[in-house]
Amino acid sequence: MRRRVLNFFNPGSISGRKAFGASVAMMLVIFLLDMETGTGIRLGALYVLPIALVGLHCDGRKPLVAAILLSVSFQTINVVSDAIALASSITDITVGFISALLVGTLANAVRHNHRELEALSQTDSLTKLQNRRGFELTVEAEIERQNRYGGTFSLVLIDLDKFKQLNDSRGHAEGDRALVVIGEILQGSIRDSDTSARLGGDEFSVLLPNTRRNECEVVCGQLVSRIQSRMRQLNFEITASIGASTFDHPPESLAAAFRIVDEAMYTAKAKGRNTAVSIQAMR
Ligand code: GH3
Ligand code: MG
Repeated sequence: MRRRVLNFFNPGSISGRKAFGASVAMMLVIFLLDMETGTGIRLGALYVLPIALVGLHCDGRKPLVAAILLSVSFQTINVVSDAIALASSITDITVGFISALLVGTLANAVRHNHRELEALSQTDSLTKLQNRRGFELTVEAEIERQNRYGGTFSLVLIDLDKFKQLNDSRGHAEGDRALVVIGEILQGSIRDSDTSARLGGDEFSVLLPNTRRNECEVVCGQLVSRIQSRMRQLNFEITASIGASTFDHPPESLAAAFRIVDEAMYTAKAKGRNTAVSIQAMR
């Protein structure tokens, strides 16, 4: 129960549309209750809850401005119907507006920070590609999509050859520079709909949605030769071994998909490195 309540306030845990709908419904209930309770009991403070909901879950300023205006309008009707002194009415409405604005702005800031942290937690700080955590979520989403709608996707695993030697001979900083360049090569070799990631160390991966085995083999061949020639240009003695697999049917699990490309990558290493091996995944 406690978890459910907390999740309700977790930015992005419910869709913006749902949050806005729930917020309007809540405000309506507060308004009607406030009309019922009359002058003695004031419920205006409760409007902060629906406002916070919109600030936490909705994109852009428009829904928040709409929710604040709606809450102020409802409070104005409540206050005016109470027939109290004009000065008190104006004070109540102003306080209602300020607290709605404050809570809305704070909730929006929480949402913004939450999103930034989430993006950071899924990004590799060196290459700026997705990290393992982010990439696993991306591949899981692709498997889920395939389970629902069918289609094909390919997964590529890249491990650099003799990378330790580069670190040992040229130093860790040069090793890092090579990793950054590899990240740039990957990013420059894929379509907007593809995703590249650094899984850790000298291991990278690429997800190619809607890509058949022959198309995937072309991409892998390009990657092997681009990495080789760019590294040679920079006087880095490293190449890449690539394992890839095309999934015409959803893999059993994320781990099962990675096991297959891992196997293909080790076959590429065993073949003498600087090459790509692709496997058609069986059902
Ligand atoms: P192989 O051809 O068999 O793949 O051999 P390898 O030398 O590439 O060895 P391996 O892939 O097992 O090791 C990767 C090395 O990457 C180990 C570690 O020293 C180095 N490494 C891991 N993370 C970083 C990093 O962030 N920066 C740098 N410069 N090196 C790293
Ligand atoms: Mg390696």
